[in-house]
Amino acid sequence: MALKLNKEDNIGGQDNPVSRLREMAFKPPKRIANYAYVQSMDDYEAMYELSVNDPEKFWGQIAEEFYFERDQPEGEPFFHYNFDITQGPICFNMLKGAKTNVCYNVLDWNIQRRGIGKNIAIHWEGSETDDHWSITYDELLVEVCRFANALKSLGVKKGDRVVVYMPMIAEITITMLACARIGAVHSVVFGGYSAESLAGRLIDAKAVVVVTADGAFRGDKVIPLKEITDKAIQLCLEQGHNVEHSIVVEHLPRLKKYELMGKKSCIQGPLDKSYHDIIANQSDICVPEWVDAEDPLFILYTSGSTGKPKGVLHTTAGYMMYAALTFKMVFDYKPGDVFWCTADIGWITGHTMMVYGPLANGATVVLYEGTPLYPSYTRPWTVIEKYKISQIFTAPTVIRSLMKFRNSPMLRHDISSLKVLGTAGEPINPEAWLWYFQTLGGTKCPIVDTYWQTETGGPCITPLPGATPTKPGSATFPFFGIVPELLDEDGHVVEGEGEGYLVFKQAWPGMMRTVYGDHARFEETYFRRFPGYYYTGDGAKRDSDGYIWITGRVDDMLNVSGHLLSTAQVEAAILEHKCVSEAAAVPIEHPVKGEALYCFVVLNEGLEMNKSIIGEINDKVRDKIGPIATPEKIHLAQGLPKTRSGKIMRRILRKIAAGETDFGDISTLADESVLAALIKPAKQ
Ligand code: ATP
Ligand code: MG
Repeated sequence: MALKLNKEDNIGGQDNPVSRLREMAFKPPKRIANYAYVQSMDDYEAMYELSVNDPEKFWGQIAEEFYFERDQPEGEPFFHYNFDITQGPICFNMLKGAKTNVCYNVLDWNIQRRGIGKNIAIHWEGSETDDHWSITYDELLVEVCRFANALKSLGVKKGDRVVVYMPMIAEITITMLACARIGAVHSVVFGGYSAESLAGRLIDAKAVVVVTADGAFRGDKVIPLKEITDKAIQLCLEQGHNVEHSIVVEHLPRLKKYELMGKKSCIQGPLDKSYHDIIANQSDICVPEWVDAEDPLFILYTSGSTGKPKGVLHTTAGYMMYAALTFKMVFDYKPGDVFWCTADIGWITGHTMMVYGPLANGATVVLYEGTPLYPSYTRPWTVIEKYKISQIFTAPTVIRSLMKFRNSPMLRHDISSLKVLGTAGEPINPEAWLWYFQTLGGTKCPIVDTYWQTETGGPCITPLPGATPTKPGSATFPFFGIVPELLDEDGHVVEGEGEGYLVFKQAWPGMMRTVYGDHARFEETYFRRFPGYYYTGDGAKRDSDGYIWITGRVDDMLNVSGHLLSTAQVEAAILEHKCVSEAAAVPIEHPVKGEALYCFVVLNEGLEMNKSIIGEINDKVRDKIGPIATPEKIHLAQGLPKTRSGKIMRRILRKIAAGETDFGDISTLADESVLAALIKPAKQ
């Protein structure tokens, strides 16, 4: 494939073959760099040095942009933390003793100081193209206050947990902010989870209230959210946990398609309250609860890619500041820009990049209820054109699903408003990166490949669009305040070029404070392996230019004949084959090599596997990595098991490859039918 790039965009030369992509660096286009907050690597380095050498000064300046009802009492340390489990309990706090409120900051304070009351906060776009409406900052504040008052009238108070199980509608944002306003702790559960998964989280969070909706459309299908919630509440009861109220947003009657459905109200049970009824007579004013900087803001469960999901707890001031700064810097958000993140609000990406980060910056976001491919794969182009989107943020799995459609609709839609394109969630293979860069960005938009976790609160390794020359597949350099290190098996620091376990040496404001209700699990999971460091569980490589490449989860590493290979490396090689749309590599036992590679491959629509494709895939891996990596088996799959957030669950694939049938916790699996289809051929 030949690349057509503007000279200034490319310092790696023109017409490079795909195999050389990894060695190329793409300079930020001048149209972005000249106006960016951070315009050069020199500027970045100066700011970075300050952020890690004098974090108190760096974050102290950021804190000044926010409203604190009471400053920290004299003598309290700005930061206080211990990452060394041999020295005592793991802890981190920041600005402890100061009082603030996140909701007040992102709404009241922002409306006052930026004068943005009449600006659109959220453009809501339904699954069907003719369902859409918008809400301004002033309107959002009124809605939030009314719902906050309604929650208070039901007896919800500071510290109570409120589970949110909703589709992508404005009420999800309203509920989160209403909780923050009264000091309640929200826990958003992705609206695609089953009753069992929802019940598990309601019990784990000891939630008193659940806020849900009657239902939602996913494509042509209605997801009966209220029915699922009822079942979950029943399951809770059976396990001795009482949910006191179930608040229901009646969303479906607002949709044009509803007329065809002829449904009746689903508010029937003794716990049920109509959202609309309970806000009807509430005041538009709700005095915020001034909470401690370290009081909890939310609990969010991890995706469960590697095991039982962890209830990650984030607190108030540190998270607010980190969300605000990462959103602003990573996307170079400027007033007037329109931001679209395709992730569900039920993931950390949605919390930080659809709610707290944008609102803290007075931004306008598009909240899209549907799926990227509905009613057809051209939908993303339609949405970008309709709202004149400036920044888009999505996941490699979405990019790969769009890449399958070769005839790009780009030419038929005006998407020239785009400035920055973001990705997160999984390593992005160079082909997908390049497609994103060329086909969506027209080679004019920097790609920000942001590495982060539910635990980190915001991006930790990421390019800055006006400063960082990017390399396809590399998350590049640390964000402000993050000190990454690579460690070897024995915990020694790998200096310079090399590979190892990715850890962070210093605390940063957005980091989680504990696993809710299980501090021992927090210490075990993140701090036992390498005392003195936060352990991410991911592997990474540093190249000769200092760029960081995430190589995947350490648990998924492949050890073939004594050579450690990363899943990202092998899968990227397979994905270079033009017929392959998805790939996952896992180890199987081998009598001679110790471990060998078992590769699951999904081909592009309409293609069938044949001997020559298998041969070519083998050649790709051999050429890119070496003969030792030649796959032992290539397993043609119709689909791969993924978490509801779209990540490949390699731990399940490992079991399938080994012929096992006990898959462990599959509550976060998106589609069980994929499993059934995979098991059959594996047994042949
Ligand atoms: P669990 O912790 O329950 O197994 P999870 O790790 O998938 O689930 P998340 O917090 O949603 O839950 O995902 C974080 C992980 O996603 C990271 O640890 C990393 O493995 C992967 N990841 C996120 N962003 C990137 C990226 N840009 N490049 C590579 N990997 C990424
Ligand atoms: Mg994880």
